[in-house]
Amino acid sequence: MGKVIAIANQKGGVGKTTTAINLAASLAALEFRTLIIDADPQANSTSGLGFNPQDMQNSIYECMIEQVETEGIIIETDFPNLHLIPSHIDLVGAEIEMINLKDREHRMKMAVANIKELYDFIIIDCSPSLGLITINSLTAADSVIIPVQCEYFALEGLGKLLNTITIIQSRLNTDLIIEGILLTMYDLRLRLSNQVVTEVTNHFQSLVFNTIIPRNVRISEAPSYGIPVMAQDAESKGAVSYLNLAREILEKNGHFSTDSQMGIS
Ligand code: ADP
Ligand code: MG
Repeated sequence: MGKVIAIANQKGGVGKTTTAINLAASLAALEFRTLIIDADPQANSTSGLGFNPQDMQNSIYECMIEQVETEGIIIETDFPNLHLIPSHIDLVGAEIEMINLKDREHRMKMAVANIKELYDFIIIDCSPSLGLITINSLTAADSVIIPVQCEYFALEGLGKLLNTITIIQSRLNTDLIIEGILLTMYDLRLRLSNQVVTEVTNHFQSLVFNTIIPRNVRISEAPSYGIPVMAQDAESKGAVSYLNLAREILEKNGHFSTDSQMGIS
């Protein structure tokens, strides 16, 4: 049964999409069957993997609103073991359309239920909001990764997110756990970055991943080529850090990966 991990933070620009794409690509490169669900109307994971959201006939929208069969919507990417359920701008309307639907918080969970066994990991890239689509994602998820940018106001809004997670745990998904808090865009040279690392680690202790994602130009360039950073430059600090994150998660979940499993060509 695949583990469903949502990448969530209602703040924009903290590295959710970057983490979804590069963590998923790293798990896939380690030969774990991996699916990304793009649950953001901005469809950055879809375009970041080389697809034009406008060209997508079906998307997560149709699965959630029209209950179109999920398996038929999955597309294969150019990378072995990495599949995608794309997003579409129509997903913006889903927030409103779902309000009067039956099981409105469980639509994503229902969509994922019958494809879970096809994958080892399903990574959901959430939108920068705590609206109904993100609530659906957290209800469908086994765990959540919270990216936190090593910047001013890093902790701003985190209380609200943690509060939402607690409410979901008590009402909609008692099994939801926090997989970890991920520090992103760390700049060794900046005192501020180091202060944020210290502050977040002191506050959240073992909830914080050991792996810290550095600010790295290759990471920011990769989406414009429609590829994960490891496909652009496997040796770059960005690619290596996401591979380390994948290994940390695998170990935490009782999987073991070896270098011989590096199926990158
Ligand atoms: P979110 O999905 O939370 O809105 P993104 O993943 O889209 O955030 O990241 C916001 C911007 O920061 C993007 O332009 C992305 O390329 C860039 N970015 C994210 N992580 C890094 C990093 N580690 N180093 C450099 N740029 C990054
Ligand atoms: Mg995003």
